[in-house]
Amino acid sequence: MTDLTSLTLAEARKGLADKTFTSLELTDAHLSAIEAARVLNAFVMETPDQARAMAREADAKIAKGDAGPLAGIPLGIKDLFATKGVRTTACSKILGNFVPTYESTITSQLWRDGAVMLGKLNNDEFAMGSANETSCFGPVGNPWRREGSNTTLVPGGSSGGSASAVAALLCMGATATDTGGSIRQPAAFTATVGIKPTYGRCSRWGIVAFASSLDQAGPIARSVRDSAMLLRSMAGHDPKDTTSVDIAVPDYEAAIGKSVKGMKIGIPREYRLDGMPAEIEKLWSQGAEWLKAAGAELVEISLPHTKYALPAYYIVAPAEASSNLARYDGVRYGLREQGKNIIELYENTRAEGFGAEVRRRVMIGTYVLSAGYYDAYYLRAQKVRTLIKKDFEDCFARGVDAILTPATPSAAFGIGEKGGADPVEMYLNDIFTVTVNMAGLPGIAVPSGKDAQGLPLGLQLIGRPFEEETLFSLGEVIEQAAGRFTPARWW
Ligand code: GLN
Repeated sequence: MTDLTSLTLAEARKGLADKTFTSLELTDAHLSAIEAARVLNAFVMETPDQARAMAREADAKIAKGDAGPLAGIPLGIKDLFATKGVRTTACSKILGNFVPTYESTITSQLWRDGAVMLGKLNNDEFAMGSANETSCFGPVGNPWRREGSNTTLVPGGSSGGSASAVAALLCMGATATDTGGSIRQPAAFTATVGIKPTYGRCSRWGIVAFASSLDQAGPIARSVRDSAMLLRSMAGHDPKDTTSVDIAVPDYEAAIGKSVKGMKIGIPREYRLDGMPAEIEKLWSQGAEWLKAAGAELVEISLPHTKYALPAYYIVAPAEASSNLARYDGVRYGLREQGKNIIELYENTRAEGFGAEVRRRVMIGTYVLSAGYYDAYYLRAQKVRTLIKKDFEDCFARGVDAILTPATPSAAFGIGEKGGADPVEMYLNDIFTVTVNMAGLPGIAVPSGKDAQGLPLGLQLIGRPFEEETLFSLGEVIEQAAGRFTPARWW
């Protein structure tokens, strides 16, 4: 039955409806695959009993003919999503064995639609990172390796567990979150599809907060169609998140296969970086050619403030993080380190509970928000953010429907290879993705080719606010042209 794991979500949906197999069989096949892939460290918590119970329930509903759109589909959940009765840690020691008494809005919508939870997925601590190396549970392995090499590579981050598990066929799709690239960059590193929807499209309620004005959840899946199916269940207005927007959720799947003829695709001049690998450059031109062949029109555009996006992000995101993380004080949740008074208890708990990268962000954030530096850093970064957003608005006002860029400046790298001496080396991974969060726009990463060492590379499409459908239509054109990529199994 193990070949059940290689189906796409859309194929599995058909097999379940036709009664070719049951959800219990599909779920068991994935549970065995997870067991056999523990070396990847993609899951930080497996929930087989719950998975089987949910699968049985889905099977009963399918038999009765009252199945939801994701009935019986086994998924993995990033450990940033609160799951009722199931440990949720954001992969930080400071949350200890925190077991939420409530369910995040997104996961409750997935269960409402019949999906099955296989377990919780690894991620960078509080989603801070680009390689899944800051997790308190240790790094995640990318199922992809360089040709002829045994070196284990990172799957990207922060949603490294989600991307690795989907690519290694351990789950049919996964939830993920993206504050500066954490859905799209790991998707590009693992040949999976990842979409960060428009800010406000999905509820953030019950998701551990990193930088609230940038955080947005979305799916990682094996095909553009699968990601459209998942996003439909995840999206929607939620009165419990005042930043979620009350507009109807379209049937995203209907956008798949829709003609892209006449669409205007912007190619931003500023994304052509000095020293960018020739392979990435080539892939980008190839992607443009594919869209052109499908009838789209290509136009060169300018996003002049692009070069300020990363520095501004690394002020805004840590500022919000330092405020959000103030709640982890050793009193209310998880870890508590004693001290001779309450201040010492706070200090000891936070020093012991937060990892090095999180501590760095809290310190930067506190600094840029402090009296005397607020105007020079935080306020200035907010102004830059407005300019970045305006760059995009100007292009859209001139009739551009979507923007095509590389998803990442390189393919996956080895564990421990980057950022050791200089954290900025790691931050540069998000050079093409952070602008999209700063502007609140939707962006999708689609597998598009391989580098000379056989590693996957992805392209990114950026859309107008709430026009995720355009991204699905264009993304599918790229997917059809590029084909799908599966790693050779070594684990
Ligand atoms: N890599 C970026 C960071 O470390 C983005 C992470 C994310 O999107 N959650 O902040």
